[in-house]
Amino acid sequence: MVDLKGQYENIKEKVNQSVIDVIESAAFINGPEVHQFQKELEEYLDVKNVIPCANGTDALQIAMMGLGLKPGDEVITADFTFAATVEVIALLGLTPVLVDVDPVTFNIDVDAIKNAITPKTKAIVPVHLFGLAANMDEIMELANQHDLYVIEDNAQGIGGYYTSKDGSKKKTGGIGHVASTSFFPSKNLGCYGDGGAIFTNDDELAHIIRGIVNHGMYERYHHDVVGVNSRLDSIQATILRVKLPNLDLYNNARRTAAAKYTKAFEGEVNIITPTCFCDENDSNKENCDCHVYHQYTLKIVNSDRDALVAHLNENGIPCGVYYPIPLHLQKAYLDERYKEENFKVTNQLVKEVISLPMHTELDDEQIEFITTTIKNFINK
Ligand SMILES: *Cc1c(COP(=O)(O)O)cnc(C)c1O
Repeated sequence: MVDLKGQYENIKEKVNQSVIDVIESAAFINGPEVHQFQKELEEYLDVKNVIPCANGTDALQIAMMGLGLKPGDEVITADFTFAATVEVIALLGLTPVLVDVDPVTFNIDVDAIKNAITPKTKAIVPVHLFGLAANMDEIMELANQHDLYVIEDNAQGIGGYYTSKDGSKKKTGGIGHVASTSFFPSKNLGCYGDGGAIFTNDDELAHIIRGIVNHGMYERYHHDVVGVNSRLDSIQATILRVKLPNLDLYNNARRTAAAKYTKAFEGEVNIITPTCFCDENDSNKENCDCHVYHQYTLKIVNSDRDALVAHLNENGIPCGVYYPIPLHLQKAYLDERYKEENFKVTNQLVKEVISLPMHTELDDEQIEFITTTIKNFINK
């Protein structure tokens, strides 16, 4: 699915040297590399505050702690996403409210959010799923009307843009009140272990969060709030500093591969390729900036998706089903208030989606082999 080794080969000398430098400096925790990375990421994302932490799940949890969400508060998020999003809501004693997604974008459905809002609702967590920005204009408008926080889960969307109705553009993660991301190795900006970060333009919230990640300390050995221990280490930070300047190139390589996949599936009525919102007439989708293709996810209709998965595996082609079970049907998150008729899209998507290999090193030969194998199977 990913080729981390191939990507490493191209940055090997820089990465190796920077890791050795950190080891020789012995500044493993909270060292200058972490601080530098934080500054560079703030600049890249155009957000006022980046707070590095241990992973993307912690980032979500700490964002919710920073906002002061309390047990009983309802938090609305998508039924079709990675479990981390709903997990931290439940872990904090908040009430997760899962809602359906849009069948075209796979992102949280704004009408479904509207229908789920109650007087207890305190926050919405849109996920920029597979690298495509959620419908942030409408989500922010709804949040403003109902006085809700918006926490962007940007673990899959880093480096992508959202274009508002008025034409203005912003990078994902800088639109809501606070955002989280993950530097898990296979993410678009991945380190060589675990890592994550929280972003916010709100200086006061950033101050609160900087204390929470460090045991609730704002002054040494004074613990004002209940915090956690969640740190990005210097070795991961120095690797991320080597990779960050390449992130746009990496995302472009993903878009190029995505455009080739999509072109190869042209005219296939049973294969629905991913949507992006860039100019329809722009044949050069490489200029697209709304999708960073963390995953390239097809919908297979009128055909047997599971049989296709088995066929690809037999042919040595990795593929993934993200996600095979809607969160509202997961044992840990069952809730008698959920009604199946409100999850029509997710219930359908889990049967249709398949994600193809997607990384920065995909070549034409691989894409040709993958797409031909799929087309031959679908049309057999
Ligand atoms: C990867 C991911 C996370 C969690 O990140 P970790 O660093 O693995 O904890 C959270 N949300 C989404 C949508 C993700 O894809």
